[in-house]
This record gives sequence, structure tokens and C-alpha cells, in this order.
Amino acid sequence: MTEVYIGIGGNLGERRENIKNAILSLSDFIVDLQCSDFYRTDPMDYLEQDYFLNVVVKGKTSLSPLELLGKTQVIERNGGRDRKSKIPKGPRTIDLDILLYGNEIYNTEDLILPHPSMNMRKFVLIPLLELDSTVKDPNSGLPLYIHLEKIEMQGVYCCSLNSYNNLFL
Ligand code: ADP
Ligand code: MG
Repeated sequence: MTEVYIGIGGNLGERRENIKNAILSLSDFIVDLQCSDFYRTDPMDYLEQDYFLNVVVKGKTSLSPLELLGKTQVIERNGGRDRKSKIPKGPRTIDLDILLYGNEIYNTEDLILPHPSMNMRKFVLIPLLELDSTVKDPNSGLPLYIHLEKIEMQGVYCCSLNSYNNLFL
């Protein structure tokens, strides 16, 4: 089994429900799931869109990296993700990004590990480090937290105390 971190976000529809449903689907093939708090995030890149809700989950899986990508893309499709949207980084119901797959470094057309943008995104680093503040970047071997202070202002606001267990209540 390999430890994986997955970033989940969305800014269309019932954001919190969409994220909870995605996590419940992940529990079919990821064990020992833990979820960060929920974070409200200002849009980046494409700014003419509504705010996002983001979390990071951590767990263990026996799937290969590409099998995991396939499964997360099925969850995106089932969650109503329309990949035909013409706007890069535009509105989406649900987005699942594989952030880390153990210490694996992977560079293919379909999958890059660690996720290529994670070190520049506070809405990824903050919830990930909340789950484990000691995680290191497989590429550099340096702790991920060093990137946090280098990132300029990004609107990322903690907006709930969440426990994965509460999802079932
Ligand atoms: P973004 O998440 O950057 O806004 P998309 O969700 O539209 O963009 O992803 C575009 C493509 O990124 C996907 O088709 C997928 O094949 C590729 N990709 C590469 N590396 C990863 C990764 N680590 N996790 C998820 N998707 C990835
Ligand atoms: Mg994505």
C-alpha cells in the first residue's frame, strides 16, 4: 500500500456536498482516509468566477498511480465535471488532483507526480500540511512547508472544523 494525498475542490453547485460525495467514493479504494478542514479559496488564474471550496485527503491505496488517476477521473465525471469547458482553470463542480503518491516521481503526458502546481498553491499546501507538517517534496527532498512563506497573498480561509468521521453522521 502506498500513502497518497489528493486535493479536492470545486466552485459550482453544492460545493460541500460534492466534496463529501467525492471523499465517500474515494473510500472504495483508499483506506485510513483522513480529511483536512474545509478551506474557502479565492479563484486564481481565471478570476471571473465564484469562490472555491478545497480540502486535502490522505490515505493508503494498493492501486497504481495510473489506476488511481483513472478512478479519480471517474469520480469527477460522476460528480458532473464537464471537461469540454473551454476555460482553463475555469469553473468546475469537482476537481481531484493527485498531489503525492508516496515519494514517486512520475512524468507522463497524463500524469505528473508530485502534482506540478502544488508548491505554488496555498489552498493545497495549507490543508496538506495540516494532515502532516513533516511531508517532504520528493523532487527536492526539502520539507513542503518552506514553500508557504514564499507564496504571495492568496485568499485561503479556513471555514470549518471537519473530521472525516463526521461525514458519516
Ligand atoms: P487542473 O486540475 O490543473 O485545473 P485539470 O483538472 O483539467 O486541470 O487536469 C488536466 C489534466 O491534468 C488531466 O487530464 C490529467 O491527465 C492531468 N494530470 C497530470 N498530473 C496530474 C495529477 N497529478 N493529478 C491529476 N491530474 C493530473
Ligand atoms: Mg485537476
